[in-house]
Amino acid sequence: MNPRRDFIQKLALSAAAIPFAPLYGAPHELDVFGFSGDQSVLRVAIMGLGSYGTRVADAMQSCKRAKLAGVISGTPSKIKNWQKKYNILEKNCYNYENYDRIKDNPDIDAVYVITPNALHHDAVLRIAAAGKHVICEKPMALNAKEGEEMVAACKKADVKLLVGYRMHFEPNTLELIRMRNEGEFGKIMFFQGLSGFRIGDPNQWRLDKALAGGGSLMDIGIYAINGARYMVGEEPVWVTAQETKTNPVKFKEGVDETIQFQLGFPGGAVASCLSTYNMNYLDRFFLNGEKGFGELQPATGYGPIKGRTHQGPLTEPHVVHQTVQMDEMAGIILDGKKAVVPVDGQEAVKDLKIIDAIYNVCRTGEKQKLEL
Ligand code: NAD
Repeated sequence: MNPRRDFIQKLALSAAAIPFAPLYGAPHELDVFGFSGDQSVLRVAIMGLGSYGTRVADAMQSCKRAKLAGVISGTPSKIKNWQKKYNILEKNCYNYENYDRIKDNPDIDAVYVITPNALHHDAVLRIAAAGKHVICEKPMALNAKEGEEMVAACKKADVKLLVGYRMHFEPNTLELIRMRNEGEFGKIMFFQGLSGFRIGDPNQWRLDKALAGGGSLMDIGIYAINGARYMVGEEPVWVTAQETKTNPVKFKEGVDETIQFQLGFPGGAVASCLSTYNMNYLDRFFLNGEKGFGELQPATGYGPIKGRTHQGPLTEPHVVHQTVQMDEMAGIILDGKKAVVPVDGQEAVKDLKIIDAIYNVCRTGEKQKLEL
């Protein structure tokens, strides 16, 4: 008898009962869940030890295939705290001046960039040049041009570039996508995406165009953009948009407070979306087809994600998004696994092209064709 195999078989049998099991493939794939040695584990350094970086680090403590192995930060006291809290070796700690040296560190496979938006482009280029895989937070860049440069740099360096689209691994979201793919909603006619919250401190980087690249659209409206694409299941071919601003002191030139935008899809469906930094209780996706509907509310928060369809409530279990995301990304990077909805740099460039177009049509008032 092989006790390890016995344990893995039991684990496989019980996989149906664990919340994120449906996201993984056949039970034999469980064999690589950290039980077959370090080569099956993605060793990640987090860059940017702020609020979301901490959430990811905490979630990674429950990962089976991804391990927090290093940090990159400009604040020595944070590095010390993280070393203690997460047991990170001194040799895996870097600052923003010396992190190119990560290329000589065989114990780091990938860097997860979780800094303010405007810093993503330079960081991804440097990490790619150091020969490490990159996971980058959304929005991947400030515009499509930057995004394309990042994709090209990672391709040239032969490293993977993934983006922190955690909803692409969320079970209720995936259930709606499955139902749509199997025709249970019929022909898709309409999508509504409402994404917003009332932002506080006027001095934070999210309200500084130089660091954020814009306003609500870059930060929260991107969920409605990305969601419209994965819920309708097509790439939009036109966009219209309208911007409104009630507080030009808090939301300075180039920092959008509220934008409503519409996307047209080749199959005839239309999306109507709202992005705002000035209203709470806005996190809702609604997909309407000729034979039924699917609704998520909340749709993109940290969960539990709740929803229903014309058939009744969605009942997929709550998972910690960042734990599942990092385990799944380890599978993508280490085993070439494919996500149901892609999470690569090219996927992010499509969202950035739409963002570029929305900002443009807010100025021109015209309808713009999209070529993604
Ligand atoms: P944050 O302000 O809490 O953290 C940002 C970190 O970057 C801080 O540790 C800060 O010290 C560091 N930093 C490095 N250089 C900086 C500079 N020049 N100016 C300011 N800070 C600097 O922000 P956050 O909420 O963690 O967001 C970071 C990124 O993560 C953003 O791109 C954001 O869109 C993304 N995010 C994603 C999700 C998600 O659910 N996927 C959620 C929150 C944030």
